[in-house]
Amino acid sequence: MFGEELVEAFGRLKAVFDPLNRMNPGKVVAPYGLDQNLRLGGDWAPRDRRDLHFRFPHDGGSFAEAANRCVGVGKCRQLTNDGGAVMCPSYQVTREEEHSTRGRARLLFEMFDGHGDSAIRDGWRSEEVKDALDLCLACKGCKKDCPADVDMATYKAEFLSHHYQGRPWRRPRSDLSMGWLPALAQAVGRTRLGPVVNALTHTPPLSRAAVAAAGVADREVPLFAGRTLQQWFREHEPSGDGRRGTVLLWPDTFTNHFHPHIGRAAVALLEHAGWRVELPTEPLCCGLTWISTGQLGIAERVLGRTVRHLAGHVRSGGRVVALEPSCTAVFRSDAAELFPGDQDVRRLRDQTVTLAELLTEHSPAMSPRRCPSAPRVPWRRCTATSTP
Ligand code: SF4
Ligand code: SF4
Repeated sequence: MFGEELVEAFGRLKAVFDPLNRMNPGKVVAPYGLDQNLRLGGDWAPRDRRDLHFRFPHDGGSFAEAANRCVGVGKCRQLTNDGGAVMCPSYQVTREEEHSTRGRARLLFEMFDGHGDSAIRDGWRSEEVKDALDLCLACKGCKKDCPADVDMATYKAEFLSHHYQGRPWRRPRSDLSMGWLPALAQAVGRTRLGPVVNALTHTPPLSRAAVAAAGVADREVPLFAGRTLQQWFREHEPSGDGRRGTVLLWPDTFTNHFHPHIGRAAVALLEHAGWRVELPTEPLCCGLTWISTGQLGIAERVLGRTVRHLAGHVRSGGRVVALEPSCTAVFRSDAAELFPGDQDVRRLRDQTVTLAELLTEHSPAMSPRRCPSAPRVPWRRCTATSTP
């Protein structure tokens, strides 16, 4: 803008008033070189690994590139959830950088940094990174709200799977009890031992012992339903004309085993809206609990089996209706990152809808009647023929 002669004169004038060059160094009169002080620099060679479970298809298959997405503007440090934002609940409670999305991304970046002067030197085994990820709820709020699409829930799962690789005894008990909950629920549902388990886990002091054994604090063991949603559906007589086609209702673990009345209400609503409803007959799981606890080898097997069971339905163009947001996120996001080349996984990703989406976007002219007053027990008061 000013030319060399004037800039040199600026420099001489500045030196008179700022002989130690303390004011705004490196700018205008003696600027830094274009390749100085870069965050990465030309010699950046991250210690990335190729033995990853998630394939990070949007980051060239590199976990280091994914962790490096954070641009540091700090939207994840907001203290309120204005406008429906979710990110980042752990920061909002702790107010500590380490427990924000940005702080976690920074620590992962340090873990992979290739400059030789990284703060984190023990890679996947790092306790600092594990502690920072510990309070991450894997809520996917950052995946939705972060302008750079940082997806900390996925990074956490990938990190934990390597952190505990070869030393599963170091895992907290809650990883095992929460991770294997779907398998336990399936065993209880198959043997119809729900009432016995309920009695044992809700009678002191056994209830306290059960919670302590599971490694969780201040929680009640959920009550198993007498009949799972799948068991009820086997005897269910379809109603309605099914004029809109067939949808598959996904029996997630909590709806199927603990709150089947929600699934029964969804079946009634879908049939009232003109859909013919199917449910898988096999006990299936999307693998979420194993994903969020970083038990990714098992998660891949569980999810792969589910995809094989749903393949016929999605290949024929059928939609999958998911009631549980976490399962929806697995089908729409995690599955495609674990199995990026699988066509059935892509179909499942594209054809999974929430109940609200199915009714508002794929059921034209549907006008459900409203319950005259909000019932306390919707299933008992509302039926498909009256007020779903
Ligand atoms: S994680 Fe996302 S929102 Fe937070 S600082 Fe980085 S880019 Fe910004
Ligand atoms: S997934 Fe973790 S980092 Fe992202 S918003 Fe939720 S708690 Fe924060």
